[in-house]
Amino acid sequence: MSDRIKKELNNINMIPASTASTPEEEYQALLRSLDVYMPLADRRPIQLAYEYAAKCHAPQKRASGEPYIVHPLAVAGIVSTLKLDTPSIVAAILHDTVEDTTATLEEIEQLFGPEVKDLVDGLTKISKIKFRSNEEKLAENFRKMIIAMAKDLRVILIKLCDRLHNMRTMDNLSVEKRKRIAQETLDIYAPLANRLGIYGIKSELEDLCLRILKFEIYQEIRRKISSKRSQRLTYINDIKEVLEGELKKYGFTDTQVYGRPKHFFSIYKKMMERHLEFEDIHDLFAFRIIVPTIKDCYEALGVVHAMWKPMPGRFKDYIAMPKANLYQSLHTTVIRPNGDTAEIQIRTKEMHETCEYGVAAHWSYKEKGKAAGESDANKFSWLRQIMQWQSELKDPDEFLEALKVDLFDEEIFVFTPRGDVLSLPQSATALDFAFAVHSDIGIKCIGVKVNGQMSPIKKHLKSGDIVEVLTSTHQRPSKDWLNFVVTSKARSKIRSFLRTEQREKSRKLGRDLLMQELEKRRMSIDDIERSQVETQKFVKAARESQFDDALIAIGYGRLNAPELLNRVYPMPEPKETMQEQIHRQGLDAPAKPEKPSKSNFSSILVSGYDDVLVTIGKCCLPLPGEPILGFITRGRGVTVHRSTCPRALDLDPARKIQVEWSKVQLENTSMHRCGISLRTQEKPGVLAEVTTLLSNNGVNVHKAEVKIENKVTGIFEFEIGVKSLQHLEMVISRLESLPSVLEVQRTNMTKNRRPRRSSR
Ligand code: MN
Repeated sequence: MSDRIKKELNNINMIPASTASTPEEEYQALLRSLDVYMPLADRRPIQLAYEYAAKCHAPQKRASGEPYIVHPLAVAGIVSTLKLDTPSIVAAILHDTVEDTTATLEEIEQLFGPEVKDLVDGLTKISKIKFRSNEEKLAENFRKMIIAMAKDLRVILIKLCDRLHNMRTMDNLSVEKRKRIAQETLDIYAPLANRLGIYGIKSELEDLCLRILKFEIYQEIRRKISSKRSQRLTYINDIKEVLEGELKKYGFTDTQVYGRPKHFFSIYKKMMERHLEFEDIHDLFAFRIIVPTIKDCYEALGVVHAMWKPMPGRFKDYIAMPKANLYQSLHTTVIRPNGDTAEIQIRTKEMHETCEYGVAAHWSYKEKGKAAGESDANKFSWLRQIMQWQSELKDPDEFLEALKVDLFDEEIFVFTPRGDVLSLPQSATALDFAFAVHSDIGIKCIGVKVNGQMSPIKKHLKSGDIVEVLTSTHQRPSKDWLNFVVTSKARSKIRSFLRTEQREKSRKLGRDLLMQELEKRRMSIDDIERSQVETQKFVKAARESQFDDALIAIGYGRLNAPELLNRVYPMPEPKETMQEQIHRQGLDAPAKPEKPSKSNFSSILVSGYDDVLVTIGKCCLPLPGEPILGFITRGRGVTVHRSTCPRALDLDPARKIQVEWSKVQLENTSMHRCGISLRTQEKPGVLAEVTTLLSNNGVNVHKAEVKIENKVTGIFEFEIGVKSLQHLEMVISRLESLPSVLEVQRTNMTKNRRPRRSSR
């Protein structure tokens, strides 16, 4: 690492980075760090781990040319800043041995015991997870990681330290690789660190990501923060002095006040979210008051509020209501006489430790006497919730969606009329609250009283609201509900209710269809239903597990009643072709067909046949080559959606049918429409630059809309024609490399689309 980069990194480091560069120096730095919090612990396992890992990694070098062992030692160093125990330090030193060298788990168990072996095993498994694959894989991988995590949280803590060291030392990797790793970090590891409450690692990861993904903006923020540096330091010191003086006056003695600039990424996020310019962001600094007891926290708050006026709506009491990740603190923003605002956090020393180390604080060395046999999942309700979902939600897409909501949303706290507190994601509605109280209450919810006022079930809730749910026994969930609920619990309960209802309808329809066919042969469905031998014949022929499932399959149109009957009671009739079956099912003869465009017809294979009527989902406009899903629709053949389309997720999985792009279509070079949206810097010539790039890359522009967002950024919405998914991806990455383009996103086309939260 060059000195310049080291210096620059030190500007943003929260977690101290060692300045060591040889393995021995790195090892000594680790020992010094261990001496601080576990001076008396046995060092022999650590020495042994160092020797063993050094031998295993001997032939390897890092991209920088350093001996590989520097990396695991540095990771162990970061783990030691979280004050984790000896097995964690040993596992950190060994974390890459099984993955990258000839070392085996058996050997590690022999040398270091089963506890270290399990940790290394978990780390090896996580390192094999590739997050940039298709959504289904991603969900599966997340599931694996969650399971590894729930068994022993130390695995993910060590993994986060590993990622942090990799992010600090990526300068010798190619630009693409750096961007890919940074994006993965921003999508997965930083939110995870946040959820686990390890703010030190979270903030540094985010700032490092910003530096790699949006270098220009990163530089700009850095330049602006460091300019007028002395002026800003005076500003921080002024406030610090006033606070300290005032607290002393009221008899606070053992109290520390800190002031620091906020992280670059949080400034960047604020600029983007509120569409502000750097100059418009006033609270660039955060102040922190650390006091001995909880009582002192509230008293110190009183002192602050007596001196400066609190900003309405900005006071938060996370002491009375800790966040799910155990974070506790009082937050307030005050207005100073000159009109400036300052954000102030007040907490005790113990709370401060939990804030910095999050769940790691529970694993720290001093907590040796932890309850035996209690898995980490039992300690953290959040983790317990996820474990429950991963066993309940069989559909990987649904699981991923649930996890995203839970991982990325801040919480609000809402009260029941009896004073119980429930925590919900920030954008939760009254209906989400009803489902959080109980599924039955959610299903029967007709409205709510928020703070005594009648409100619709769609109402967004705020922290502190007191919510009373009104129910009616006649109420039933409607499809529309899915458009506004945000919690996974509400969503999955509504979906399962609608599916059950839909299945019952289909079962009745299927039974009617089968009955008609049976009557043609002078047979009675009642007779068949009475005989288990007969129903079993149908079950077997339909390849379902129950008679009802066979009826449902007929009702949905997945099975054809006469065909099934023929299989159960064969008649000497010429066999039908697939084409004829489809004819009779009415799949290709819609009552009122939506005219299929020529290029869509026979472009997609449905379960291997290319002669089924296919409609492309207008909501998501999939491109050839993209992962797709098909759904059987009555009278309109098969509708095809992108596999990530939110609408497709709402449809009944029982109607899912396997579809794939045909070879013809994949080789076809005709143009397909899709939508993209760009956020750009607002400068003359940007539109020209973008359209030139589009036309130079063979893209047709059908429609362009320009919106000026504010003085600094603008938004372009394009409807374009591209040849394929690869073509679109290539164009998006070229657009993103334009310096004036900040963000490019693929958009859906329908106007009434449900806003989908993205992880960025
Ligand atoms: Mn590693």
